[in-house]
Amino acid sequence: MLDELRELYQEVILDHGKHPRNLRHPADANRHAHGYNAMCGDTITVHLKLSGEGRIEDAAFEGKGCAISVASASMMTEILKGKSEAEARHLFDNFHAMCTSDHAEAAPEIEDEDAAERLQVLAGVRQFPVRVKCATLAWHTMVAAMDGKGEASSE
Ligand code: ZN
Repeated sequence: MLDELRELYQEVILDHGKHPRNLRHPADANRHAHGYNAMCGDTITVHLKLSGEGRIEDAAFEGKGCAISVASASMMTEILKGKSEAEARHLFDNFHAMCTSDHAEAAPEIEDEDAAERLQVLAGVRQFPVRVKCATLAWHTMVAAMDGKGEASSE
């Protein structure tokens, strides 16, 4: 990766880490789950408002953790708004594959170009395997919330 690009990626993550979007608890959220990453100590609660048709009308989170876990949650909530449940699961599957793939250029099969770009930034953590659990925690927790499980870990 070019140094300039790497710097840009770091800036995006730091910005979201310092100024997280959707760090709140919507009163009308109807799906919730707690997530915990024991390796780093990151904790998160994801709140979703799912419509009757299974569309994510609102996504927010609360929690504490390292910059990567917070940035990932912040970017995830922005990406998820307006997506269907199926699309959200598809994004999670692709993001997880991007984070754990050995092929840095593994192209995500994501139609939403903006989401794909953001996930590409986050998936830069694949260079730091211990950070992958930080980056995927919010996503595991989001899926647990949709599944009505209540608890999640990034194991
Ligand atoms: Zn972490």
